[in-house]
Amino acid sequence: MNAANDKLTLIGSGLTGPLLAISLIKRGFAVELYERRPDMRRVAISAGRSINLALSTRGIHALREAGVFHQIQKIIIPLRGRMMHAVSGELTFMPYGKDETEVINAVSRADLNITLMNAAEAYGVPLHFNQRCTGFDLPTGAVHLREEETGAETTIETNVAIGTDGAGSAIRSEMLKLTRFNFSQQYLDYGYKELTIPAGPAGKHVVETHALHIWPRGTFMLIALPNIDGTFGCILFLPFEGEVSFAALDTETKVKGFFEAQFPDALAVMPDLTDNFFANPTGAMVTIKCSPWHVDGKALLLGDAAHAIVPFFGQGMNCAFEDCTYFLDLLDRLGPDWPRLFAAFERSRKADTDAVADLAIENFVEMRDRVADPRFLFRKKVELELEKRYPGTFVPKYAMVTFHRTPYSVAAARGAIQDRMLGELCDSIERVEEIDWRKAETLVHRELTPLAGA
Ligand SMILES: Cc1cc2nc3c(=O)[nH]c(=O)nc-3n(C[C@H](O)[C@H](O)[C@H](O)COP(=O)(O)OP(=O)(O)OC[C@H]3O[C@@H](n4cnc5c(N)ncnc54)[C@H](O)[C@@H]3O)c2cc1C
Repeated sequence: MNAANDKLTLIGSGLTGPLLAISLIKRGFAVELYERRPDMRRVAISAGRSINLALSTRGIHALREAGVFHQIQKIIIPLRGRMMHAVSGELTFMPYGKDETEVINAVSRADLNITLMNAAEAYGVPLHFNQRCTGFDLPTGAVHLREEETGAETTIETNVAIGTDGAGSAIRSEMLKLTRFNFSQQYLDYGYKELTIPAGPAGKHVVETHALHIWPRGTFMLIALPNIDGTFGCILFLPFEGEVSFAALDTETKVKGFFEAQFPDALAVMPDLTDNFFANPTGAMVTIKCSPWHVDGKALLLGDAAHAIVPFFGQGMNCAFEDCTYFLDLLDRLGPDWPRLFAAFERSRKADTDAVADLAIENFVEMRDRVADPRFLFRKKVELELEKRYPGTFVPKYAMVTFHRTPYSVAAARGAIQDRMLGELCDSIERVEEIDWRKAETLVHRELTPLAGA
């Protein structure tokens, strides 16, 4: 690959920018990263950036490919399943996968970001902070930047600009000016707020460490993921408006009363609840789809900039990291023929990123509502039995998305078929022992075997 003369400018040093930069510089490209925020390694990060995330197979695969997973391994906590908290305080544990190898991993967004930026710098990637991209020239590909503290404006020439600048991408905003640029954004009526469960005595977690805790309440929910410092990062998902909503919780008394009624066991371990609640902003959640993701061979969108999704499948970052896997595989096969490469990248990914966007919305209903339903939990048990009996043929949708690298569109299509099968097998029984295995055999052979290898 003759890359010596190609200068690549990455906009956005969030999660994906540094990861991609590492793999590009290793391939011999001159890469620079520009980030609008100050360097979070030197300046305290604000609320909204301290959330922890679930890292799973696709993300881990991309981190391994870049040779940085061993560094990330030190800052993750494996979670074996969901711990559901009823209002009564009763706990129900539902494993994520068929065994101990199928786990998701909690990681602090800030720690992950810092580790990736340190690794990028160690490989020689120059990182420039306080540099906001304000646009790029469509004909020349030059990138415009503004220094956030001084307001000084500069323009840099580059062979290629890659927008890893997240859901509010400035590069994408520029593309909106093109004719025939397709764009849709769909906000949820729900917002989210970060809250914290502090560490207990001796820095220990005060509830089970290796679980994602959920307080599902039908139309809203609270979740908590552990941090390595003994705290839990919690997120409250609630409608923006209405009777039970962020708008309605406008005093400390109301917030406390709401938690007493809905999440009493969480309230018991959240001494700073009301301070957190009013100090932290209420975030919005959006699904963004657009096309094309590139302007000839001059600019490309990757990660949330190309396809932001809502967080309920824990896949936004994993999907963005998987973009790197697909992009680099094509780069290795096609070489730096940017127009051809960018078009091939979008073709290889678009159906999958559209599919995971829809799966993420679906999973919202599952998390806030269905996980509290005994029939749903029973179906999950039957799913695991089917997987045991037909390994590799019947793989639960959650597992295909989270523990495998099955293309998302295939996972969605197979998942829909399996959902129908589960309906047929579960509807008239109460116990796993009652599964009609002859019927299961017929359904598997009729519906899933023809798809083998898909
Ligand atoms: C509440 C919540 C929970 C989530 N949980 C999960 C989870 O459990 N698992 C999971 O996989 N995903 C999760 N996600 C999604 C995940 O956060 C995103 O998919 C991921 O951060 C996308 O990475 P990115 O690099 O594309 O964008 P980002 O990480 O958002 O990085 C974009 C970067 O670009 C910078 N930037 C923006 N504009 C400019 C500009 N004009 N000039 C220069 N720099 C700019 C930003 O400051 C930022 O640093 C969650 C998201 C939310 C909101």
